[in-house]
Amino acid sequence: MTGEASGGAGLDLHSHLEGRVRPATAAELARRLGAPEPDRGWAAALRLEEPGDLTAYLACVAASYPLFQDPEAVRRIAYEAVVDAAADGQAHLELRFGPATHVTDRHGLDEVVRAAADGVQEGAAATGVPAGIVIAALRHHDAETNERVARAAARAAGSGVTGFDLAGDESRWPAHEPFAAAFRIAAAAELGLTCHAAEAAGAAAVADAMRVLGVRRIGHGAHLAEDPEALRRAADEGVVIEICPTSNVWTGAIPRVEAHPARAFLAAGVRVVLGDDNPVQTGSPLSAERAVLRERLGFTAAELARLDADALDAAFLTRDERRSAAALLGRR
Ligand SMILES: [Zn+2]
Repeated sequence: MTGEASGGAGLDLHSHLEGRVRPATAAELARRLGAPEPDRGWAAALRLEEPGDLTAYLACVAASYPLFQDPEAVRRIAYEAVVDAAADGQAHLELRFGPATHVTDRHGLDEVVRAAADGVQEGAAATGVPAGIVIAALRHHDAETNERVARAAARAAGSGVTGFDLAGDESRWPAHEPFAAAFRIAAAAELGLTCHAAEAAGAAAVADAMRVLGVRRIGHGAHLAEDPEALRRAADEGVVIEICPTSNVWTGAIPRVEAHPARAFLAAGVRVVLGDDNPVQTGSPLSAERAVLRERLGFTAAELARLDADALDAAFLTRDERRSAAALLGRR
């Protein structure tokens, strides 16, 4: 793949490893691992049928979880995710991954994290597209589990793991306080910090995540524009919102992509970057999300260039990787 990447889809700063399993790979891995095939087949099981709520959306993503119980499978899925990102024209891929869900009696946290990190590093080497794993703590796990996850992420910092996130069902577990210690561990290891917030919860979740977890990058923020004061504060404090418009329709955060608050964010001076969240489930990879911005949310060429510049600035990249991502973007 080296040399074929165009960077035309931009930087993907919000995408989940568990949401990037190729259906053909799922079928093959399931056979090898002895995991039962879903009644409808893998392609249908991994694809959402109709917009619902965050709980239903996450249940569809979880259809792939049996495949993540094997580190070699995790490594392959991560490798293929970077290959697919390169084929989609992405100039950088940040892959979120919640390892605690995939720990078994035979494979501990470090091994699971290492498998994902090895896969992205091999994918990046094969394609020339910089990529990293953003380890996700999960809202439904207890504080101690998430602190163990943070320590495993810290041990892999600088070798494929680049950041730390909080993901999961915000509608059922909205509080941030239980996760503060895990974020302190990640920050001490100099991992980049981000947090899913105001996806299912209200605008106040953004300021709360900033104050409690120390993040300046926010995943989704779909409800942030509903509170003008929260929006103004986000602009003042240089918050970067990782927008994923199509995902927000599927989770029921917004009724249709035209209702996405991206233009309100721009008008308020809030920086936005783009992600495709779970592209296998939604059928919308980053290149399609970029088309949504251009064709349905009216982003001009100048606004897309601004988004790319903000993404390069906010990405969890080393200086050399940033240069590579910028070069890929410039090749457009
Ligand atoms: Zn997400």
